[in-house]
Amino acid sequence: MIDLKGKVAIVTGASRGIGLETARVLAACGARVAVIATKENPDLALELSSTLGVEVRSYGCDVSNTEQVTVTFKSIIETFGAVDILVNNAGITRDGLLMRMKDEDFDDVIRVNLRSVFVCTRAIARHMMGRRSGRIINMASINGIRTQAGQSNYAASKAGVIGLTKSNAMEMAGRGITVNAVAPGFIQTDMTAKLPAEMIEKYKAGIPLQDLGSPRDVANAVAFLASDEARYITGQVLGVDGGLNA
Ligand code: NAP
Repeated sequence: MIDLKGKVAIVTGASRGIGLETARVLAACGARVAVIATKENPDLALELSSTLGVEVRSYGCDVSNTEQVTVTFKSIIETFGAVDILVNNAGITRDGLLMRMKDEDFDDVIRVNLRSVFVCTRAIARHMMGRRSGRIINMASINGIRTQAGQSNYAASKAGVIGLTKSNAMEMAGRGITVNAVAPGFIQTDMTAKLPAEMIEKYKAGIPLQDLGSPRDVANAVAFLASDEARYITGQVLGVDGGLNA
């Protein structure tokens, strides 16, 4: 079992899906966790902290908004005393073919999926650099590596997350901070529940491990990258995709 006792983690996009499961797994490993979503959810924080026996607090914050992130991260550092782990997970889709894609569908996806990673990482960088340690894990996607029609906004945002991950890893390596990305394949969450059933079956048939992934599969990879055991890994993209990108 990965041991994160004594660590504090921030997980963005943690109201459901991969982010919620990541918060749950990090807390089960002993970390105290600040969960962020667009709205504060004290009931969720209470449920997690009472079932897992560690401090979990909920914050409402648009993670693409610099002012909101600055205020929220300051409050988290003051409340928890320090932050060891940042998981940049929040993300959205606005799929559509290029010729029909509206400007706002492109801009919103880049803002929430990519700008947020820049804004949140910058907001925690000074704190982690001062402590000469930290773990940053960014949620990319297989679609940032090999993609498909109808996702020019999403694929561009996730390819951007991978570029940002590698550059930030180089900048922060000298201060003992690792920056890695996790690239999930097809994971069963609200995001993928929107897809037509026949498309899901088509995807499934093309996955070497012949199954869809679960949020727990992704959360376990995040927990490993957040642990002391992953100290010598930085600037990497860890696929959690059933072999899709093999
Ligand atoms: P999801 O179930 O749709 O959950 C998205 C989360 O992001 C929610 O907690 C949502 O909070 C939060 N969020 C959205 N916009 C936000 C904003 N501006 N500020 C703060 N929080 C915001 O998504 P998921 O499937 O778990 O995906 C999580 C991450 O994994 C995303 O980055 C996604 O691109 C990536 N991913 C998913 C898959 C997959 O197959 N599911 C595959 C590859 C990569 P609210 O509840 O407040 O809206």
